[in-house]
Amino acid sequence: MKLTLRNISGWLLACILIRLGYVRRALNRTLKGEQMLSVYFHNPTRKEFETSVRWLQKQGLNLLSLADLERMVLKQSPFPKGGAIITVDDGWQANEKNIVETAEAYKVPVGIFVSTQPVQDGAYWWSYLAAARKAGLSPPAVQVLKDLPNEERLLKIEEYKKTIHLPREAMTIEQVQRLSRSEYITIGGHTHSHPILTNCEDDQVYFELRHSKRTLESWTGKLISYFTYPNGNYSEREVQVLEGLDYSMAFTCEPKPIRVLDTQHRFLLPRLGFLEGASFAENICRMTGVWQAVMRRARVPFRRKRRIPTGIGTTSVATKNVAFQ
Ligand SMILES: [Zn+2]
Repeated sequence: MKLTLRNISGWLLACILIRLGYVRRALNRTLKGEQMLSVYFHNPTRKEFETSVRWLQKQGLNLLSLADLERMVLKQSPFPKGGAIITVDDGWQANEKNIVETAEAYKVPVGIFVSTQPVQDGAYWWSYLAAARKAGLSPPAVQVLKDLPNEERLLKIEEYKKTIHLPREAMTIEQVQRLSRSEYITIGGHTHSHPILTNCEDDQVYFELRHSKRTLESWTGKLISYFTYPNGNYSEREVQVLEGLDYSMAFTCEPKPIRVLDTQHRFLLPRLGFLEGASFAENICRMTGVWQAVMRRARVPFRRKRRIPTGIGTTSVATKNVAFQ
């Protein structure tokens, strides 16, 4: 855990929630088959990821693959008792060491959703803003760019790309290819340039979803059928385009477990975000959905703060940008 006042307060609250039995009850609901846990990461340390996998397994949960979930969604198999699913967004370079090696060691399936432009260029767009700030410039906040129409966001980022050169932080094409050959890894789509899709014009949305799917398919030689919405932003339009392009399932960042009813909407499957850098007690509450449910009710300001600039990928909500994770 990164020692900050926010994380220490979060740890204290999480310990109270665990002590009061919230986590135990959420696990019982999962083990009885009332819900599945759907946990997602971005760029966790090896310790964070390995501890999470071991904890989930120790609770008697069965980690399922995306193909298992798809069979459930298509009603070809029953909703499981004790089911859990792990997904990872963006395609960070350190995922291979921290996530894939752990997945193979513990024999657990993981879905990794990769944005293709950062793989080609090396870095994610929000990292240019952080680097500009470090260089003494005054770039806008990531959230300000997330709220802009996509064309305007691209223009701003292009300005910084001219002068700032970042070391690689995304996977290489060779890594994506290697990972896709692991029996425990399923590669999915996460757009090409990681825009906020609801800020894009129709043709941009179509390009982002189609081009990234084709690119990943050409790199891996496998069909890309699953998708996660960058920043969790979607609308009916994105769902229709995904369906038209033959994706078969998509995940939002709506912070709740998957219940039987949710499987009727295969392009709107919810997920619970792991907060990298926070205490493991808080993340136990997050992985079981306890934290998010309590925050929703209390609306206290423990929600934001991220350790890494993956600013992208947590909360959701159909067409609105909302603070997430
Ligand atoms: Zn993302």
